[in-house]
Amino acid sequence: MGKGLLSSKLFKCVESFLMFAFFVKILCLLGLHRWGQWAYQNFTSCVQVLVCDGCGKFKPGEIRIVHIWGDLQYAKENSCETIHVCFRCHSIKPAVSSIVHSFSEKTYVTSDSCVMARICQRCQWVEHDSSTTHHIFGEWIGEAGICLELRICQRCGCLEEQEHHDWLPKLYGKICSQCYVTKAVNPGLCYQCVQRAIPCDNVFYSCI
Ligand SMILES: [Zn+2]
Ligand SMILES: [Zn+2]
Ligand SMILES: [Zn+2]
Ligand SMILES: [Zn+2]
Ligand SMILES: [Zn+2]
Ligand SMILES: [Zn+2]
Repeated sequence: MGKGLLSSKLFKCVESFLMFAFFVKILCLLGLHRWGQWAYQNFTSCVQVLVCDGCGKFKPGEIRIVHIWGDLQYAKENSCETIHVCFRCHSIKPAVSSIVHSFSEKTYVTSDSCVMARICQRCQWVEHDSSTTHHIFGEWIGEAGICLELRICQRCGCLEEQEHHDWLPKLYGKICSQCYVTKAVNPGLCYQCVQRAIPCDNVFYSCI
């Protein structure tokens, strides 16, 4: 008896399911589809469509694109351009901060210049905004009786000079005991008598 009851219950269940399936099919045949969730159209594309729960038909004209973007990655080996790649369709989109350099410590930009800057180790881009100049000077070079010394940068060849006079005070100025260069306290006037000096000099013509 129990067995008969069970089978009749099962029959009722199957019957109502079949009725339901039939009903749904009828609705679909009448064009009354029951649009369900968005679903990917196939495994390798990112196109999503609306699918009918009853017959599996795609809703015409209704698509959307949903990519699954991967982490930030470099676009190419020697480039600092960054991108995201879609796991599904391999589409590429530029990253928000699209350039990500990998800087070294400051180094010389070229072998014969004294400009130092940060250089990207991936793409060799030079960050000129941060550049500084750093000369490597040799010893000061001078000659006896000349109060001017020079030194030369061993990298770029530029010259730096310095004067170091042995000043002796004079009435209205001073004179170097080695090279006899003069300086007047009052520009344009003689350093000995304060009369108008020879143009571009520190001395009146009779005081030479
Ligand atoms: Zn349908
Ligand atoms: Zn995609
Ligand atoms: Zn770079
Ligand atoms: Zn230099
Ligand atoms: Zn001097
Ligand atoms: Zn004078």
